[in-house]
Amino acid sequence: MIGNGLLLPIAAPSGTGKTTVCGELLKSDICFEFSVSCTTRKPRGAEIDGIEYHFVTKETFEKYIIENKLVEWEMVFENYYGTLKSTLQEAIDLKKNLLLDIDVKGALNIKKMFPDNTTTVFLLPPTNEELIKRLRKRGTEDEETIQKRLARLPEELQISDQFDYRIINNKLNETTEKILKIIKEGKK
Ligand code: ADP
Ligand code: 5GP
Repeated sequence: MIGNGLLLPIAAPSGTGKTTVCGELLKSDICFEFSVSCTTRKPRGAEIDGIEYHFVTKETFEKYIIENKLVEWEMVFENYYGTLKSTLQEAIDLKKNLLLDIDVKGALNIKKMFPDNTTTVFLLPPTNEELIKRLRKRGTEDEETIQKRLARLPEELQISDQFDYRIINNKLNETTEKILKIIKEGKK
């Protein structure tokens, strides 16, 4: 599927490292484009509109829903997140490899809609303690938000067996290598 419209949604419990892993994949020898989602959450740190996300208002997002512009959307941690249809269609039409940093349900929805193009990857933290450590170390959320993110963990883990691949994100370079191997060998 590489070079033929591969969609690679990577999902994980918040803090596991999916943004970091996506960053490594974007630096790899495979030419990926990053799927820029729309969100109503505020930019975090040095995030730039149009690069990490299209940061939009709640009104704009709800207009996109009504106008059927989103291929999938979810309310995650009290904010809307969604993928524009045009982003995926362009990747498929132009046979690009598209990397999606997306929540668990969103990833499975993409697979349902584009089964032949999609390989889903779920990243697991080595342990719950390590996950909490990573979330705190990132330092971008207050304690209440961290607790909200952790509360989603059991449901996310339960759904994770529907993914094509589950990888424990222990050592960053090993995780990246495993994902590259999977897609280069063209499994699933
Ligand atoms: P997510 O996008 O899944 O919420 P991030 O990519 O923001 O998670 O990573 C959360 C924190 O964990 C960051 O501080 C990041 O540097 C760190 N991290 C990511 N992957 C690893 C890893 N394999 N080993 C140790 N720390 C990691
Ligand atoms: P964050 O606020 O940490 O950037 O993202 C919160 C969650 O929303 C993460 O699990 C992230 O992968 C997910 N997410 C980001 N973009 C999308 C999207 O377009 N659709 C869905 N369903 N989830 C998304």
